[in-house]
Amino acid sequence: MKKLRLAITGLTACSGCQLTLLNCEAELPQLLEKFEFHYFPLACSPAVLKGRYDAALVEGCLSMPHERQLLLALRSQSQLLIAVGSCAVWGGVAALKNGTDRELLRRQVYGQSRTAVGTFSPQPLQSLVTVDAVINGCPPEKKELIGLMSGLLLGSLPVPNDQPVCSDCRMKENLCLLTERAQLCLGPLTLGGCEARCPSQGVPCEGCRGPVPEANLGEALELFLQKEYGRAIVIERLRRFYPEWKS
Ligand code: SF4
Ligand code: SF4
Repeated sequence: MKKLRLAITGLTACSGCQLTLLNCEAELPQLLEKFEFHYFPLACSPAVLKGRYDAALVEGCLSMPHERQLLLALRSQSQLLIAVGSCAVWGGVAALKNGTDRELLRRQVYGQSRTAVGTFSPQPLQSLVTVDAVINGCPPEKKELIGLMSGLLLGSLPVPNDQPVCSDCRMKENLCLLTERAQLCLGPLTLGGCEARCPSQGVPCEGCRGPVPEANLGEALELFLQKEYGRAIVIERLRRFYPEWKS
């Protein structure tokens, strides 16, 4: 069987999503039998984008002009384009200051220097191109990336999750950090699929996987308010990973 030809890369990102794939050490030998990692600058050099790809896996968001060119090239040269991780899907942590004046941010970070310009407010991939599938998470779970690769071999794409982290958490029979300990846990509003990784360690959910579809924000805010967390602090926390939450 012919290997599937992949392009894997990052835009404005921390490389955590790509590293999660590279950390699938047990599975990598089998993956290398089935896939050609033709363009994967983080792992292979030289990396030259050339020819057609069966799929492009893209981490990170858009914030620089050259990233637009790269993403357009990846889109036009790939049958499928998959947004991997919260930065690519929602804007993620890179976009957490999107609501703040950019000139003010620029002065705070670079002083009066005019050299560090040319960037723009971080945007998800789908602001520029059509995205065929998404993998949520910051970073995604290993099993989700392996599931994506297996699906590509079978010609299928991942089915989006629609359950909150609380569902995973209850399956694990965890003590609820929100109702029992009055901690600001964002599980009720956050997409599950992570097996409640943080609450299972006694750490409140930070919302890194983005919003659950059709989240009942009003009901959740009521619950948070009962624990003395007002709307403003909840929305501010939610925006760390998904800047589009409306206040
Ligand atoms: S989604 Fe998280 S792990 Fe992936 S690039 Fe963005 S910040 Fe890094
Ligand atoms: S600890 Fe958090 S994720 Fe778990 S059930 Fe409570 S609110 Fe939901």
